[in-house]
Amino acid sequence: MQVITTIETMQKTALSLRAEGKTIGFVPTMGYLHEGHQALLKRARQENDIVILSVFVNPLQFGPNEDFDTYPRDKERDEQVARNANVDYVFYPSVNEMYPEPLSTNITVTARTNVLCGRKRPGHFDGVATVLIKLFHITMPHNAYFGLKDAQQVAVIRGFVADYNIPVTINPVEIVREEDGLAKSSRNTFLSSEERKDAPHLNKSLQLARKAIDEGERSPQVIISLISKYLQDHTQGEVDYVELYAYPSLTEVKTIQGSMLIAIAVKFPHARLIDNITFTI
Ligand code: AMP
Repeated sequence: MQVITTIETMQKTALSLRAEGKTIGFVPTMGYLHEGHQALLKRARQENDIVILSVFVNPLQFGPNEDFDTYPRDKERDEQVARNANVDYVFYPSVNEMYPEPLSTNITVTARTNVLCGRKRPGHFDGVATVLIKLFHITMPHNAYFGLKDAQQVAVIRGFVADYNIPVTINPVEIVREEDGLAKSSRNTFLSSEERKDAPHLNKSLQLARKAIDEGERSPQVIISLISKYLQDHTQGEVDYVELYAYPSLTEVKTIQGSMLIAIAVKFPHARLIDNITFTI
């Protein structure tokens, strides 16, 4: 496994791999790797000749009061996880390498951002799109892998990849969870032991909703109220949003039908957690 820190070396490497006819699978992350990231790496390993992992905590996708400075980082551990996952290249650029000076062109995501995390975190998806457009040009992948944990992100990425004819296939991967149902996240490490006990209720509220839908409930409002009440009754956290949309369009529906997303965010004092379910009915 080779660790590459400069854009020039990464780009030259990707170009020569392509010239050799190798397929490249790419997994972009912010590091502090866990089993969710490992599931993405496993898929990339199975489906490509070469696997490139990037680890970059992207300042552009953090708001002014968010956790950029405190976001967990552990380069050595990440390298060990990458080695165990048979990664070929880790791209590990500094902020200065990625953004040596202010950009002269800004990417603004205009669709699907007035809901969910897009509404709650203004500019977040502009930062995500900007870094991914750069990373796609740097690593030149045939396939890129993203977790459905960030279902809105997957929809946004599909949008700009289609808009700008970027020659990469976007592959979504199911959410990986702890045994008690909590979605794995680098931010789980911030939770106090009390918050950690509360956290599985996010998934439980979604399962409750799914059960009600399976039993015939079709009203978005009833389902949203059911989840909100459950979260208020079972967690100390502040419910940031509970929303239900058609997926991947992220448009409102009058009745639950077709391909759907139910997504929630809960703010605990030490971390803001998100979770969701996607399903077709
Ligand atoms: P992050 O490092 O949080 O930016 O995540 C990098 C990638 O890993 C994104 O595509 C995430 O959606 C994905 N990911 C993070 N947590 C999970 C999880 N629990 N299950 C599946 N994918 C995940």
